[in-house]
Amino acid sequence: MTTTANLTRAEAAERSDRLTVHDYHVELDLSRARDLGSPTFGSTTTVRFAATAPTTFLDFLGHVRSVVVNGREVDPAACYDGARITLEGLEAENEVTVVADALYSRSGEGMHRFVDPADGETYLYTQYEPADSRRVMAVFEQPDLKARFAFAVVAPSGWQVLSNQPAFAAAGRADGTVRTEFATTPPLSSFLTAVVAGPYHRVDGHWSGRLPDGGTLDVPLGVLCRASLAEHLDAEAILTVTRQGLDFFHEHFGTPYPWGKYDQVFVPEYNLGAMENPGCVTFTEAYVFRSAATRAQYQARANTILHEMAHMWFGDLVTPRWWDDLWLKESFADYMGAHASVAATEFTDAWVSFANRRKAWAYTQDQLPTTHPIVADIPDLEAAKQNFDGITYAKGASVLKQLVAYVGTDAFFAGARAYFAEHAYGSTSLTDLLTALEGASGRDLGEWSRLWLQTAGTPTLRAEVEADGERVRSLVVRQRGGDPRTGQEVLRPHRLAVGLYDLVEDDGGAALVRSHRFEVELTGESVAVAEAAGLPRPALVLVNDDDLTYGKVRLDPDSLSTVREHLGALREPLARSLVWSALWNATRDAVLPAADYLDLVLRHGPAETDSAVLAGLTLNAGTAVERYAPPARRDELRLLLGKGSLAHLHEAAPGSDAQLVWARSLARSAATTPAAAPRLRGLLSGSETVVGLPMDPELRWSLWQALAALGAATLDELDEELAHDRTADGTTQHLAAVSSFPDADVKAASWETLLTPGALSNDHVDATLTGFTQPWHRELTAPFTDRYFDALRGIWARHSIEIASRLVRRLYPAYQDVVPGRAPQDDPVVQRSTRWLEENADAPAALRRLVLEARDELLRSLRAQEAGLRAPEASSREGGQA
Ligand SMILES: [Zn+2]
Repeated sequence: MTTTANLTRAEAAERSDRLTVHDYHVELDLSRARDLGSPTFGSTTTVRFAATAPTTFLDFLGHVRSVVVNGREVDPAACYDGARITLEGLEAENEVTVVADALYSRSGEGMHRFVDPADGETYLYTQYEPADSRRVMAVFEQPDLKARFAFAVVAPSGWQVLSNQPAFAAAGRADGTVRTEFATTPPLSSFLTAVVAGPYHRVDGHWSGRLPDGGTLDVPLGVLCRASLAEHLDAEAILTVTRQGLDFFHEHFGTPYPWGKYDQVFVPEYNLGAMENPGCVTFTEAYVFRSAATRAQYQARANTILHEMAHMWFGDLVTPRWWDDLWLKESFADYMGAHASVAATEFTDAWVSFANRRKAWAYTQDQLPTTHPIVADIPDLEAAKQNFDGITYAKGASVLKQLVAYVGTDAFFAGARAYFAEHAYGSTSLTDLLTALEGASGRDLGEWSRLWLQTAGTPTLRAEVEADGERVRSLVVRQRGGDPRTGQEVLRPHRLAVGLYDLVEDDGGAALVRSHRFEVELTGESVAVAEAAGLPRPALVLVNDDDLTYGKVRLDPDSLSTVREHLGALREPLARSLVWSALWNATRDAVLPAADYLDLVLRHGPAETDSAVLAGLTLNAGTAVERYAPPARRDELRLLLGKGSLAHLHEAAPGSDAQLVWARSLARSAATTPAAAPRLRGLLSGSETVVGLPMDPELRWSLWQALAALGAATLDELDEELAHDRTADGTTQHLAAVSSFPDADVKAASWETLLTPGALSNDHVDATLTGFTQPWHRELTAPFTDRYFDALRGIWARHSIEIASRLVRRLYPAYQDVVPGRAPQDDPVVQRSTRWLEENADAPAALRRLVLEARDELLRSLRAQEAGLRAPEASSREGGQA
């Protein structure tokens, strides 16, 4: 790829100063999509635009056949450099036609092509954000050059062919293909356009809403997935959430749904959760559950449906001008996903998993050396691609939640309505939203915005309790916070709640119940909770109760002692979720030993009623054992986690979510515990059963993968399992299993395949990485450390950015052991990383960012291991803040 593919913000700004784009007509010839010998498809674009300068350029990645500018043929060899088509001699009004061959993709970028192993059928879909529509058509690829798009698609007959707007004509042709023409879109950014084609299974639905003029808005709904997944598609459940969401947003956003129809397509080998293409939303088909799924998984799906739906207004109707303000739409949609779940669907507990899982993502990202303000500095497209991160989504949404606590829900929605009304079909930046919110709330948000949106870093919040005997003398909430980029202290304004909890006896035994709740505004270093003075000394003080603000909470020593013994007795799910979050942050910060965290999960996990939180706890426990525990204790802790998971699996109610979560935890931990192999075999053969536990494909494959990682399965056995599950997912899981053998030749072969561009699809890259990076195989993968650093720049240059990012992130030698007497920063892999960074100062910033982050996570794990060395057994039951 030529470097001109990496469009800069300055170039985009200059281009939008010069151009007004009217419309595109795009003709795609997908008639030979089923022929895998055809790597390309025909793409003809005619774009009409006004220009105030004689030259500009179109973006396209592929092979250009011809370029006609205002009726004049231009030689592609002279005007096309592999990424840009230079246009010269422009007039006030222009028409340019580009005829080209575009490439089918296997990386999920551009026009992805997938052949279903279950039935041999071919499926296509597009995925563009931030800048991959240029892999399909010649286009001015930047969000603020909105235009109307008219698509026409030639595809095999019998296929579903979809785009953002409804089809208005479909004509059969003599060669057995059909040409489908779609209605012209309203003004749209190119990254939001979409084409989906293939023999998709379709379920129709309908929603209608009242218009401001008293009329009715009718919106046809469609839910689609691959034909071979049709039996697993619970379309009615999806449509129910869809209608609930449309009701909610229609009422609260003021502007009627703007895109005519609403199709939701579950597509194979998808790189993300979903994409908000107006009227044609694409989702990962992991949301079509072919194995047993927990309520948390259904909740996550509903959340994603609502997130994308919120984007129909925020992101699609009104679009951030450039990627610096990506957060504007993502934070808003992320917030709305949870808010609308609670307000409009059965998932009224959505904030519980948000507080625990979503915020963990934000805290993790925000403590990396590469953290950035929510309002980011995105100089070019490669930086944009890296910025779909925990700050943009989860921290932004957390801070919006704090903003709602600050200005009130009504003002927040009133501001949003004004913003949609004023900027419909336009492009905006942060100022436009703040202006609308200030207008609605009457509050000056300048300082709030400066402190929350334009600084980086995570505040730490703690309570200081002083007591006279059994009475509180004083309760003070303190914050500490800095911007890690500048080293400057930043004290942010918090509206937050403090909960006081007492230990009482009730019907179910001991219970930790909230006796008082105080809401305070913390603007400086501390604030006293005056009302608490004189109250009985509480067993637990929970800062940021109800999760209004964003910050790591450290428990005071008495509260930590209480939760060690009684966390399971805390009846309120959101409060439990927040305490678990505090404990995990303390573990990651080397304040709470990893062994203690594991002990807490195994003792109090069974009391956890929220399956998203419970699933998170078991995943964290695995990370604690593999990365944060001292090496000498690792095997012992692995055994504890495995035994604990097994015991809880048997104790959990038959058919419950908890049973599934503990079974998954057992499978993961078994992959590092040779003694577990006979039990896994028993479960697979049916000689050992757990009442109510479905031995479905997902669970069976996870057990086979564990056996393979231990070297306790044969290739024949894995092939035999595949013969019974020759599906897309089965094929991928089989690949993960055969890549998991503890064998030097298997590692070498995986390495070669992974580093060969185009050898594997995106999903198969992931499956192979899963096998290669088995935590039990540290010694087998150690010889690849030097090769990794030597290969980094080649990986970046030769793979698409999506695949390259996965390889750089997951092949990093992350499993390293602290050595007594050696400082974490003297670890050889840390040093090797530092050297690479020094020697490659000129490497692409996005690549350097990934290496910086991996090095930092390694340092963090070594520090936690070191702390565990210092606190071997007793791990100080009393004292020490966590
Ligand atoms: Zn989004």
